[in-house]
Amino acid sequence: MRHYVFNIAMRFSTIALLLVSICGLASATDNSTAKPNVIYIISDDLGYGDLGCYGANKVKTPNLDKLAAQGCRFTDAHSTAAVCTPTRYALMTGRYAWREPNTGIARGDQSALIPPGTTTIASVLKSAGYKTGVVGKWHLGLGEPPTTNYNVEIKPGPLEIGFDYAFLVPATGDRVPCVFVENRRVVGYDPADPIQVSFGKKIGDEPTGVDPDIKLKIQGGPGHKDTVINGIPRIGFMTGGKAARWVDEDIADVLTSKAVNFIETNKSAPFFLFYSTHDIHEPMVPHPRFRGTSECGWRGDVIHQLDWSIGQLMAALDRNGLADNTLVIFTSDNGGAIKNTYDDGTNPLHSKQPPNGSLRANKGALYEGGHRVPFLARWPGRIASGSVSGQLMGHVDALASFAALTDQKLDRNSGSDSFNVLPAWLGEKLKNPVRDHLVLQGNSPNPLALREGDWVLIEKAGANKNSDGPARELYNLAADLSQSEDVAKKEPERVKSMTARLKTIRENGRSR
Ligand code: CA
Repeated sequence: MRHYVFNIAMRFSTIALLLVSICGLASATDNSTAKPNVIYIISDDLGYGDLGCYGANKVKTPNLDKLAAQGCRFTDAHSTAAVCTPTRYALMTGRYAWREPNTGIARGDQSALIPPGTTTIASVLKSAGYKTGVVGKWHLGLGEPPTTNYNVEIKPGPLEIGFDYAFLVPATGDRVPCVFVENRRVVGYDPADPIQVSFGKKIGDEPTGVDPDIKLKIQGGPGHKDTVINGIPRIGFMTGGKAARWVDEDIADVLTSKAVNFIETNKSAPFFLFYSTHDIHEPMVPHPRFRGTSECGWRGDVIHQLDWSIGQLMAALDRNGLADNTLVIFTSDNGGAIKNTYDDGTNPLHSKQPPNGSLRANKGALYEGGHRVPFLARWPGRIASGSVSGQLMGHVDALASFAALTDQKLDRNSGSDSFNVLPAWLGEKLKNPVRDHLVLQGNSPNPLALREGDWVLIEKAGANKNSDGPARELYNLAADLSQSEDVAKKEPERVKSMTARLKTIRENGRSR
């Protein structure tokens, strides 16, 4: 009898072992087939109120609305900073930009801001076997200090921090040099016509925005009156590179085709595409086929152009049977800009449809309009279609989330402020929020804002030097999303505890 029981037990354990190994095999298989392609799309200066799925009705964004309908729309996602460069730094490295010097809005000749060897979203996915590419606006500096030399092989850059392929707008559309860089070379470079840029004194004899007789497509405001390229005065002076200069009207077409080409070239491997659109940053110069198609002037027209571009990428996924196994994220690098610096006639149209919806302020500000951004995530079969999430999260979280997606553990020195928000992206039922706080910055390392649950503490300029002063505002976003009533005086204890927490986060050098 004992022998019989023993035999039965043995049989059960053999079956159990067999089951475990089958399950193990199954889960290994699941993991490999589940390793999705990843496309992270970051648009530029697109506000919380700029898409149909976030309430806009004077522009039409059918492709982005479809993405929302097929996935999850997030209502409390933040760009971490309220301007380009620090947002992109945090997104790339998982570290708050204000912890590092020199991470404000970068000039067009800024040397590389992220040192080679830094763990980035690209290096994390590359180490998981992904083919990695960046197409579009970079604005994180290129080349060796002191300033970028566009006449040589330009490195370090994205290829030194985890990308296999790069096709870049080096800085922004409104600043020189107005050329694309592919991998480490200026596209269309002519050695007989070397490129020089200056962000101080005037160089060259080409017309500038202050020449009285110059005919312009659009005139630039203060700081945007230097070398005229394609009828548009820029920030900074440029000489040479005439054959390499972009045509603003064609930038969206060029970037879209490069992004689609990257998808099609890498469709057989898991790939990561970081698609960083120029739209809808200034100068907003839509291709003629989009002109007049919106009710919001050229600003609305470039939103249509942006929506078209995303539609092209989604069509490429469909055409190649990749949509079901691709995680697509769409967002913006900061809130909508209200005061355009070019006289394109769109300023008076903001009242028709506020770029940031009912949020207070705009790009550059520590109020919600500066950094609460559209955020859509689609992964058919994994993310419930038509879902909406109010989870608090920031772009700084991409690094830890991609590590989690690919079953990797971040070492302690990487992604010091990045939290794994993948469960929120996937719409998992959660007992606790993926984040209970988030630090936000404007255009400089100080002042900062601290989000904690429904509350946001906003330092005024100089507040960090005066820990006892009244230089803070406090808002309850659950009751007052438009931030119309500063309740700091009514909530002194909360101001005190949040001030102390922000101080600790600053001093610790990390928050993860
Ligand atoms: Ca921006």
